[in-house]
Amino acid sequence: MKIIEEVRGAKTIGIGGHIRPDGDCVGSVMGLYLYLKKALPDAQIDVYLEKPADIFRCIPDIDIIKSDFEKDIRTDKTYDVFFAMDCNAERLGAVEPLYEKADKRINIDHHISNTGCGSLNIIEPEKSSTCELLYELLEKEQIDEEIAKTLYIGIIHDTGVFKYSNTSPQTLQVAAELISFGFDFPRLIDETFYEKTYIQNQIMGRAVLESIRFLDGKCIVSMVDRKAMKFYQADPKDLDGIVNQLRIVKGVECAIFMYETAPMEYKVSMRSNGKVDVAEIAMKFGGGGHVRAAGCNMKGTYYDTINNLSVHIEEQLQ
Ligand code: AMP
Ligand code: MN
Ligand code: MN
Repeated sequence: MKIIEEVRGAKTIGIGGHIRPDGDCVGSVMGLYLYLKKALPDAQIDVYLEKPADIFRCIPDIDIIKSDFEKDIRTDKTYDVFFAMDCNAERLGAVEPLYEKADKRINIDHHISNTGCGSLNIIEPEKSSTCELLYELLEKEQIDEEIAKTLYIGIIHDTGVFKYSNTSPQTLQVAAELISFGFDFPRLIDETFYEKTYIQNQIMGRAVLESIRFLDGKCIVSMVDRKAMKFYQADPKDLDGIVNQLRIVKGVECAIFMYETAPMEYKVSMRSNGKVDVAEIAMKFGGGGHVRAAGCNMKGTYYDTINNLSVHIEEQLQ
């Protein structure tokens, strides 16, 4: 299947991705945009996404993203085709009503927890990333250096630079084809993945310092509350990577990192080293994700939240 066959004749196309967009989300949304702009020069293409982190400013045309889109949603705009990338409809956030109204809805994702929310669903959980999946849906002749670089960003972010177990021979094959376009990939990896601001490093240090282990050291948890975020003038984007730092502690099977979004409300991130299926646990609390990386939102005190999660983790460890 190729995307071009599904959008032929479309005059208006919308593209959306999940709230708190990560590298794969921004990469797949923008990779698709750059491709459609070339393939359908006469179509109107609108991209709706929460404002991406500054590290993604290297992506061509990133400024076309509409992040302040409440006003567009109130209009009676109906798109010929609307894409939901790297998520299901619920995680589209404020753009969901626009998506639901579209004549044709195309859902492209690799989350095992996604049952498909489109009139056409392309969901392949064995793919490392939505960007890897998208690459195969584009006509090779249309891919250029800008599109290649954008898709590559998504793949390195979702695979932790080809390090997580979702990396397959196929992932590396796609990456090989992408780097043949000649963009400066070592720099891209450093600047979008490894580099941290002083604040990000400080807040990670604090979260690591305050982490606690439980279930015989097989589990580790840490939390950043709103007071700490305010103190460091950090926002949620500054907390990326903390959960992975917790996961690499020797003996740990499951790492949990959470930050407070409102009084007694937390955004929870979980990572597993293989024994625990964190997607299954996240789904019990209305979230989702992958076997080794998943998330959800939870209410209650910090300790209630840990207790509620640990019951399921312990059950799986046995
Ligand atoms: P995170 O911990 O936010 O980095 O997310 C890990 C993985 O789980 C990513 O693939 C997310 O897309 C997915 N995920 C995180 N939170 C949710 C949620 N509330 N619902 C569904 N999937 C989620
Ligand atoms: Mn994502
Ligand atoms: Mn993804």
